[in-house]
Amino acid sequence: MRLPEHIENAFDLSYLDFPKCPTTEIKSIGILGGGTAGYLTALAIQKMHPSIKVQVIESSKIPVIGVGESTTTEIVPFLHRTLQIDPFEFFKEVEPTLKLGIRFDWGCPGDYKFNFSFFASHQYESYYHENSIENSNWVSVLMNKNKFPIIRQDDGSLLSFLPSIPFSYHIDNKNLIRFLRKTLKQRRIEIIDGEVDQVTQDENGFVKSLKTVEGHELAYDLYVDCSGFRSKLLGQTLKTEFQPFSDTLFTDKAITFDLPNNDSVDVYTSVITMNNGWTWKIPMRSEDHYGYVYSSKYSDEETAVAEARAKFGNFKEYKVVNFRSGRHTQAWNKNVFALGNAYGFIEPLESTAIQTAVHSIIALCRLMPNSHSDHTSIAALNGEVAATWDSFRWFVGMHYKLNKKLDTPFWKDVRDKAEIGSANAIIDLFNQRPPLSAGNLGTGSPYTAVNGLVFNSYSYDTLLFGQKAVTKPLKKPAMTKEEYDSKVKSYLALTERSLTLHEIFTNDYLFSEEILEQLFLDTDTWIVETEA
Ligand SMILES: Cc1cc2nc3c(=O)[nH]c(=O)nc-3n(C[C@H](O)[C@H](O)[C@H](O)COP(=O)(O)OP(=O)(O)OC[C@H]3O[C@@H](n4cnc5c(N)ncnc54)[C@H](O)[C@@H]3O)c2cc1C
Repeated sequence: MRLPEHIENAFDLSYLDFPKCPTTEIKSIGILGGGTAGYLTALAIQKMHPSIKVQVIESSKIPVIGVGESTTTEIVPFLHRTLQIDPFEFFKEVEPTLKLGIRFDWGCPGDYKFNFSFFASHQYESYYHENSIENSNWVSVLMNKNKFPIIRQDDGSLLSFLPSIPFSYHIDNKNLIRFLRKTLKQRRIEIIDGEVDQVTQDENGFVKSLKTVEGHELAYDLYVDCSGFRSKLLGQTLKTEFQPFSDTLFTDKAITFDLPNNDSVDVYTSVITMNNGWTWKIPMRSEDHYGYVYSSKYSDEETAVAEARAKFGNFKEYKVVNFRSGRHTQAWNKNVFALGNAYGFIEPLESTAIQTAVHSIIALCRLMPNSHSDHTSIAALNGEVAATWDSFRWFVGMHYKLNKKLDTPFWKDVRDKAEIGSANAIIDLFNQRPPLSAGNLGTGSPYTAVNGLVFNSYSYDTLLFGQKAVTKPLKKPAMTKEEYDSKVKSYLALTERSLTLHEIFTNDYLFSEEILEQLFLDTDTWIVETEA
């Protein structure tokens, strides 16, 4: 061998190619539930543990919950890299809209709003120079003007910044479910239509089999409970203890309704403070989906509907969704692992549900116990899932606690009584050493199986600056007012040239201008960098 070949041979990096998921003695998994959680789990297990046989059991008589339409950035690399879902097919069939973040009508009285964009930067400088984070970075300015980071250049061609600006999807739940079911079928994952009514257990309480009303008897090594709020296996059968989050999160009902979008597709989810909770507005391509999330202790349905109609328009039909916030103490109990609403739910303010489901799926695949006696892996998995959920619970609770927009009895009680656990220490830290993102403080545990792209130190900074929770004067930043103003000028100039989502969708630019190709086929993008 010549010297260069010796060098190449010596620095062989193939040891890095170890599979990310451990081998396991578990050979078969039955997933109970064909909602978003169940389908995503089936696709992920097939990809990450191809030797395990997976089946989904769902009942065509028990509908999916049908809400769950605003997502966080994790979903993009998870769908298209981890699960290898073709983005072109996905965009054609699911028709998602694109989300740059959340626009909060929240925090301070009057017409005050702030943006929680996935691209957080320069908030400290912005707050110091302008007492607001509205113009802190280009994405926030885009959100103010409802524009998207694709600009028209002088020669008329389009330039897309999507490879470097994180976004997520707004997805019509019906479209997503239809698409995922089709993908399962294409990948030959068996779906059994049957309503599980009896669960047989051995003398130690382990699930032996599931019996359906239609006469199937189904047995697996591991059961993944994705049966939604029913929590058929983890909750009803194993009676795993449930920890309600009701001392942090007071809401328990939502009324959902649709309104026309008048040819304007927002680039964000709106979160709007209401008398007894808040309303989401999620843009679809041809209409907007709304949901007023409220507390039944403070408002009845009629009052909530009247308030929503007075504020948003006279919608005719609406649905009522009941929910409870909280989680089971263990995600894995005996030979059952639960995820999605079957494990728990954090009220929908920060769209955490699909995100936490994805987190649990990746944690399960990465920490898959070797067998049911692998107590160390089981404890690690339970710890990982619980810690993530609790940190999200406190993070969402902090939004409520700091919201000074309204003074109704509901909001006064929330401010006085809501428990926000570890977020208290993070708020304190923020006021000692802002911004948290400068030192990566407040990110939760640095050692997790799945690194969070959202709800990290930038997220806390955004919520704390955004809600004006700064209690001490800030020190002068290195960026002068002139430098800051010059940046804002550039943000505004770029925004002038940026397109609206309505223009992008009606002209089909994502396909015709090869924007999707550039985004998903290039490897130098945030999507590749953030794959878990
Ligand atoms: C008001 C509200 C708003 C929300 N908004 C968002 C949001 O914006 N973003 C977000 O990420 N999430 C949101 N969520 C959460 C989100 O809807 C769910 O977490 C997500 O859809 C996953 O649901 P799931 O798959 O766990 O359960 P489900 O969709 O309820 O599916 C349950 C499945 O289990 C099956 N099943 C149940 N029992 C049996 C049985 N005995 N036998 C056979 N099959 C059975 C059913 O047939 C169904 O297929 C929201 C939730 C609520 C309540």
